[in-house]
This record gives sequence, C-alpha cells and structure tokens, in this order.
Amino acid sequence: MHSEIDLHCHSTASDGSFAPAVLVQRAAERGIRTLAITDHDTAEGFRQGQKEAQAAGITLISGIELSCVWGGITVHIVGLNFDPDSPVMKAAEQAQTAARDHRAELIAERVGKRLQHAFDMDAVRAYAGGAQIGRPHFARYMLDRELVPSMAVAFSKYLGAGKPGDVKAGWPPMADVVRWIVESGGVAVMAHAHLYKMTRTKLRACLTDFADAGGRALEVAYGQMDNNQSGQMAALAREFELLGSCGSDFHGPNRFGLDLGVMPAFPKDVTPVWHSWQNAG
Ligand code: AMP
Ligand code: MN
Ligand code: MN
Ligand code: MN
Repeated sequence: MHSEIDLHCHSTASDGSFAPAVLVQRAAERGIRTLAITDHDTAEGFRQGQKEAQAAGITLISGIELSCVWGGITVHIVGLNFDPDSPVMKAAEQAQTAARDHRAELIAERVGKRLQHAFDMDAVRAYAGGAQIGRPHFARYMLDRELVPSMAVAFSKYLGAGKPGDVKAGWPPMADVVRWIVESGGVAVMAHAHLYKMTRTKLRACLTDFADAGGRALEVAYGQMDNNQSGQMAALAREFELLGSCGSDFHGPNRFGLDLGVMPAFPKDVTPVWHSWQNAG
C-alpha cells in the first residue's frame, strides 16, 4: 500500500541515510504530497528540508520523534505541526541532545566492557556526522570493525532491549515530552505502539497516561505493521478517542525493503490527525 501522506521518517539529522533535501526530493518522486521528517530528538530535518519542499510543491509538516520513558520502557512520541521556533521545543531539543551525548558515553562503556573493546568515541561520533548520535551509529561502527557479523546481531546481542547498550538513563518521563509538544503548539502522537513489549493491560495504562498528559494521536498505519496490527491500533484509537497518524518510519534503503509512503491502508473508522490542518491531506 502506498500513501500520499507520510508523517514519520528520518534524515541525516538523526539516523537516516538521506539529507533532508534529498528525502524531500525522494518523497516528491514517490508522489507524496504531505511529509513530516521526524528525526530522533531534533527538528533539524524539518528546518533543513523546508526550502526543497517549497520548490518541490510538497507540504512539509514540522516533526520530531522524542525519546522518553514510561513504566521503565523506552517509548517514542512523535511531535507534529508545532512551532519550530518555540523556545520550549528548542530547549527540549537541547536537553535531549545532551542526554544522547551522555548516553553515548555510557553505551560505549557498557558495550565496550562486554566486547572487551575500547570504543573510539570520535570514530563513533563520525558515523553520526555531527547530528544526533544513537545506537545505529554504534552498530555501524561495530559492523565495520567486524565486532559483529551484522546490524541485526549488533542489536540482538549488544544494543537492543534488555542488552548492555539499551541505556535509558537520561530520557525524560513521557508526560514531559507530551507537554513540550503541546506547549509548542503541536500534536503529540504515540509512535509504533504495536512494537512495545507491553501486555494489553500495560499498553492501555500507557495510553491512559498519554491521553491524560495531552497526547492526541496514535500511529494506526506504520511501515512495518501488518493489517492485523493496524486494526488493533485503530481499535485502541477509537477506545481512547485518539486521532490516527500514519508514517513509514523510513530510514534509508536496505532496511526492511521499506520506502517513503509504504504502509498499510489508513483505517476507515479513525479520524486522521491531519483533518484540521490547512493544506494537508
Ligand atoms: P536510539 O535512538 O539510539 O535509541 O536507537 C534506536 C534506533 O535504532 C531506532 O530508531 C532504529 O532506527 C534503530 N534500530 C532499532 N533496532 C534495530 C535493529 N534491530 N536493526 C537496525 N536498526 C535498529
Ligand atoms: Mn531510528
Ligand atoms: Mn521510533
Ligand atoms: Mn522513527
């Protein structure tokens, strides 16, 4: 299924392969009319992609994917259509960047101990290219030095959930990041809730807290989601009276064969998050 609206993807401003302008170009070529670049903990993708979007005739919505913690689990909240010049958002980006930098040191320490390898942090940072540093940059470093046979193993053995590199220290509580988005005039969207390893009861409790904090939408169509998962998310959106969002979470080619706009059909009985936006949809 191909959508003309993609509200979740990554550029080189975080762990994506393409610069914002290239991403916008690709979106235009793929017939996408409304795009949000939602880099991890930075709105730089939006800022750097705006000029190209105007030239390509694409509606670029401001976007960010904020890392936070709820119930001991790392949760991602997508912020959409906020004021990128808002002092609250700028402060949030600064705080999240500092948290990422500090976390990177801890990841190097913990995974280094496990691997018996002294990470060259300048080299790891080079993979991030001066932008938001994250676990995928560690994975690429490890792969290039043959410390792991693949990216998948880098995550399954060292960086993924419950492994030494899964460092949550420093991420703010979910209610805080929802508030930052709302105070910046945007909509807070619960990202890929089908991926959190929560029981139904726990996920419901999480969505209750999310809505209470001011969260307004849930991703109901997502790149790596089957129709069954999409139906489950749509049912939760209706239950919690949340709007629905959709996005591929495209990071670059060679990742799950995904591309911009690729996702299940948007569920018919959910109100799209863009229903009240000018120029979108
Ligand atoms: P971080 O932002 O540092 O917490 O890193 C999380 C990011 O790692 C996610 O946004 C994905 O882009 C990436 N990621 C997670 N699991 C995997 C995996 N198994 N293989 C490749 N990339 C992954
Ligand atoms: Mn990512
Ligand atoms: Mn995410
Ligand atoms: Mn993402």
